[in-house]
Amino acid sequence: MRETVRSGVGYPELHMIIDGEKIPVGHRRVHSVVNPASGAALGALPLADAADLDRALAAAQRGFRLWRDAAPQQRAAVLAGAAGLLRERQEEIARIATLEEGKTLAESRIEVMMNVTLFEFYAGECHRLYGRQLVRPTGMRSTVVCEPVGPVAAFAPWNFPIGNPGRKLGAPIAAGCSVILKAAEEAPASALAVLQCLLDAGLPKEVGQAVFGVPDEVSRHLLRSPIIRKLSFTGSTVVGKHLMKLAAEDCKRTTMELGGHGAVLVFDDVDVEQVLNAMVAAKFRNAGQVCISPTRFIVQQDVYEGFLSGFVQRAGQWRVGNGLEEGVQMGPMANPRRPEAMERLIGGAVSAGARLHSGGARIGTRGYYYAPTVLSEIPLSAAIMNEEPFGPVALINPFRTEEEMIGEANRLPYGLASYSWTNDVGRQKRLAREVESGMFCINTTVLGGPDSPFGGVKWSGHGSENGPEGVMSCMVVKAIHEG
Ligand code: NAD
Repeated sequence: MRETVRSGVGYPELHMIIDGEKIPVGHRRVHSVVNPASGAALGALPLADAADLDRALAAAQRGFRLWRDAAPQQRAAVLAGAAGLLRERQEEIARIATLEEGKTLAESRIEVMMNVTLFEFYAGECHRLYGRQLVRPTGMRSTVVCEPVGPVAAFAPWNFPIGNPGRKLGAPIAAGCSVILKAAEEAPASALAVLQCLLDAGLPKEVGQAVFGVPDEVSRHLLRSPIIRKLSFTGSTVVGKHLMKLAAEDCKRTTMELGGHGAVLVFDDVDVEQVLNAMVAAKFRNAGQVCISPTRFIVQQDVYEGFLSGFVQRAGQWRVGNGLEEGVQMGPMANPRRPEAMERLIGGAVSAGARLHSGGARIGTRGYYYAPTVLSEIPLSAAIMNEEPFGPVALINPFRTEEEMIGEANRLPYGLASYSWTNDVGRQKRLAREVESGMFCINTTVLGGPDSPFGGVKWSGHGSENGPEGVMSCMVVKAIHEG
């Protein structure tokens, strides 16, 4: 049954955007988009067939020729114009994102604004894609220039339905590439709204396109094509490794933003209340479905009991409900796979001997709600201590020494975001050097910004999004030597 949306703004008709044309369902297979707050259908999404993908590839090839030669002013005007349109359409787009993904409206509004600032930053970067001139004897000239890599195939997941597509589109467009975006089938209207802002701001129709489909079919088709010169993927490590192998067949460049298992080191010289105020909100943001979510709390023994009891108390009071409702702090999980994963991982941890302090169960039978959960004394062998839980669960274990704490932070093959809380300046420096992660926080949860590279090391991927690095990852260098 199709749900009537009583949010003040309806859920839009769904389509793909190929070569500037809005492609409706027609004869195609469909995916039913569902509201995770209720489980009711929101709309039917057309899934691409091989002819659709070939058409998108042909357009992307033309789009690249066109856009690589466009003046930086033109590219910058498109990005800045799209930022303005996103700002104007903030409320409408935020509501769509909450309907599709479940996060609170406040979070969706922030996500729109993060995209605004990213497009504004990238607009500036269009003018700064510098190369360099090498020092050579008189009469010779050697120059290094940066050129756009070529058409990009970009795959964005559902957890940041506005922000992920924004990153995937913004960087190639700033660099002078064309891009075929396959955003998550669970949250297509948010992605389409972002692309529509770019098209309305003057992006040529061949340069940015949006397809949806059976993920494995789409990625195999696009990555098999020699037209595509770069893969950009955000999602799980297991899918990322598979796509890297496909990309390797044609030596395509890759930017991989994969999973994490965020370590949080809390030392005994901190104000525990201050740490809890920051970390509990960070943990339950977007129901924990965030790649930089704080997950393993590695707490020094003298503050352990106070930290654990404070966390449990706050988790018990966290207000869970429909993200569109006022006062709600955490919405449902985004799809039925997530509460199922929570049951498996949390159940497994408890069976292995972990202590369950709060949550540990679904809420209600309608929608995909899962209660904010706190576990402690979890054996390191439990699956949840090794696999990204991607849900509203805090894992809190006691440790004695700094060395042991760093050892636990670096135990896993993941290295995306890590957090530390200590007032010892010498220790802050040691941690910043020793902890293996692409992003590291000292006494804050605020990591990143439009000007800051976002990405991981080890199994968390490679390459960066955001910052000058994000645009440069869509460029290649050429050395030109003149005698
Ligand atoms: P998944 O791993 O199957 O999918 C993750 C994303 O990859 C989705 O957007 C999906 O459409 C896409 N995908 C899957 N197979 C693909 C393929 N062959 N080609 C192209 N794209 C493909 O599973 P899921 O249930 O959506 O998420 C499970 C796990 O993924 C989570 O537990 C989390 O670890 C990870 N994840 C990470 C992020 C992130 O921001 N890094 C975002 C979403 C999911």
